[in-house]
Amino acid sequence: MKDSNCIFCKIANGEIPSNTIYEDDDFRVILDNGPATKGHALILPKEHYADLFELSDEAASKALIVAKKVSAQLKDKLNIDGLNVVQNNGETAGQTVKHFHIHLIPRYKNDGQHILWNPTEPSAEELVQIRDIING
Ligand code: 5GP
Ligand code: ZN
Repeated sequence: MKDSNCIFCKIANGEIPSNTIYEDDDFRVILDNGPATKGHALILPKEHYADLFELSDEAASKALIVAKKVSAQLKDKLNIDGLNVVQNNGETAGQTVKHFHIHLIPRYKNDGQHILWNPTEPSAEELVQIRDIING
């Protein structure tokens, strides 16, 4: 299903032009127009899923294969030192476009980006508590 109000549906299906670096029947991979680094790419399914919670199992299983393929392409063509795979769900997590997408962010030494988090220090009991909530 496509969403006629969704810009990523239009880009993924070729209705709006984009800088495409990979395409198959189910996905289009484009350059982000506000890139964190050179080669920052977005994997877009051609079907509309708002986020990971909505994603079909079939699209989920194919998406990581595309991520692997395009990551190899970025590694091969750009002189990258590393690569972050980022996928945001919900505004709190930084999602701004409500069409599932995976960021591939090439990393270069001293690129000035910080795609990391501040580790916290829960007690062993707190970890057990959260484990039991999740498993319960
Ligand atoms: P999010 O914050 O939802 O995980 O990521 C959305 C990403 O899409 C951002 O990095 C933003 O720069 C990119 N973006 C938003 N609109 C467009 C667009 O129209 N074209 C392209 N190429 N990238 C877009
Ligand atoms: Zn969409």
